[in-house]
Amino acid sequence: MFGWTGTILNIDLSSRAAWREDLSVELLHAYLGGRGLGVRLMRGFHALDPFDPVMPLIFAVGPLCGTSAPTAARLTVVSRSPLTGTIYDCSAGGRFAWRLKGLGVDALRLSGRSETPVTLVVTAGGVEFVDVPELWGQTVPETVAALSGRGSVAAIGPAGENGVLFANIMMGEGNSVGRGGLGAVMGAKGLKAVVVNGDIPVAVADRERFDRARQDVMRLFRASPVIFGELGIAEYGTPALVDLMRQRRMAPTENFRHTVFEGSANYSGPAIRSAYQAKKDGCYGCPIQCKKSTPRGEHLPEYETVSHFGALNGIASLDVIVKSNTLCNELGMDTISAAATLSAWGEVRGRFPGGEEVQRLLVDTALRRGDGELLSLGSRRAARALGRPELSMEVKGLELPAYDPRGAYGMALAYCTSNRGGCHLRAYPISHEILRKPVATDRFSFSGKARIIAIAEDTNAAIDSLVACKFSFFGATLEEYAELLSAATGTEYTPQSLKEIGRRICLTERFYNCANGFDVKDDCLPARFFAEPGSSGEGVDIPPIDRGRFDEELQKYYRIRGLTPAGTFADPDFLLTQP
Ligand code: SF4
Repeated sequence: MFGWTGTILNIDLSSRAAWREDLSVELLHAYLGGRGLGVRLMRGFHALDPFDPVMPLIFAVGPLCGTSAPTAARLTVVSRSPLTGTIYDCSAGGRFAWRLKGLGVDALRLSGRSETPVTLVVTAGGVEFVDVPELWGQTVPETVAALSGRGSVAAIGPAGENGVLFANIMMGEGNSVGRGGLGAVMGAKGLKAVVVNGDIPVAVADRERFDRARQDVMRLFRASPVIFGELGIAEYGTPALVDLMRQRRMAPTENFRHTVFEGSANYSGPAIRSAYQAKKDGCYGCPIQCKKSTPRGEHLPEYETVSHFGALNGIASLDVIVKSNTLCNELGMDTISAAATLSAWGEVRGRFPGGEEVQRLLVDTALRRGDGELLSLGSRRAARALGRPELSMEVKGLELPAYDPRGAYGMALAYCTSNRGGCHLRAYPISHEILRKPVATDRFSFSGKARIIAIAEDTNAAIDSLVACKFSFFGATLEEYAELLSAATGTEYTPQSLKEIGRRICLTERFYNCANGFDVKDDCLPARFFAEPGSSGEGVDIPPIDRGRFDEELQKYYRIRGLTPAGTFADPDFLLTQP
């Protein structure tokens, strides 16, 4: 088999048993790998409580992992989110993905619960269950330092151990499996870390064709101003967006009460570079290197993080923002949800947290003590408990990232149709509404957005299943990735066939969510966005979103997806019609 290995490694943490199983070629062709494969493997488990020991936690790579396909050294982790209750996946870059594939597997499916803290070490020699009572309670860097001699590490910090609902799984090189709390699912299994160390090479079907396709992708990357331009992400990282969002007057500020924050210049891309002598960094093997770190190798925050610890909490100090980011990474917590929860809580009490108070609250959140007990539940549960549910700025319980929907109506719709809650990356309409890629659309219009969002969701589901980085689309398209995939696997794929696979994945995710009670009532923005304007000025008007037009476009989206007006499936046997 080319591209894939055709094997899954199952590990039961309760009985400490491990066994390999074949994955059928039909299944791999129909779901590719990564997100798609993980979502398919969740069938039958999707209604379990996320903390049920039987709930699988799936680490899946794709057919391009282990090859030199640009941005494809990634994996996806899939399970059900304890924060949102939805099906959940998140991808992360790093050597871990290569070393997992190098064990001759396309996926690692973990289930069960260890009675005592354990670390899994998987090598060519087999699976070792290493008891690690001394690592329980340690931060992510301490855990990685203790284990990295044995291979690539994915670990949780105290937040995951303590069941913080937005706890991350952290890759040893600093990448996060973030947002939906899969770190807490790992913690509930008594699993502190997974170490993998395989080196079996991946066979490519047609090397010459593959190299040609790779050169095409690289040429398009080099020609892209968003990637390698003067102000592109390779130069300044995603904080290159700070000034742009300020200019577009759509930077969420003080819990989305405003959309311009005057202090944002302090944490723009150039400001970070000059304050920390930031140098290029990034995921293993990626030619873009959009991440940034200090000369001593400390990871610097990305756009969402600087904006949410900054504008969303009214904090202009870059030092406080960088320290908050570092602390979240050490404790194993999602920065977007942590900052947004602090912001909602700050508005409820009438004062946003600042300076050292932020750091104290982050530690308390990870340890679930004091105010941190409530904050560890995320903004929806915290705001409800405090009697102000309307101040939680989320969709399906997932805190909204740093693009105010009043400034980009496609983003407003995409937050709501996203199967994992308020996420910018399922469809990323910012690409055409703000960055004009591949073509510009009117950011203040809903016209045509339902169809564009559905297509983008399908496209992104396919790329998440290869697994490659969505930032590739700032330069290349599905066309070049279909060519890479065909050359790698020896099976012909086209952009259209990849979109159809993406559609199957999106609908399967939606079906799981509907089975768990999600419907049209959950596909909605917080009322603030329909009632309050953003910060108009400098010739840009940011009015509240027209609720009637939003609802109309959402219904259009349902029709395009073949759903009922309630956003559900007319056919209760939909899953049985899928491979
Ligand atoms: S573009 Fe950035 S996030 Fe994507 S793979 Fe490269 S370094 Fe990682």
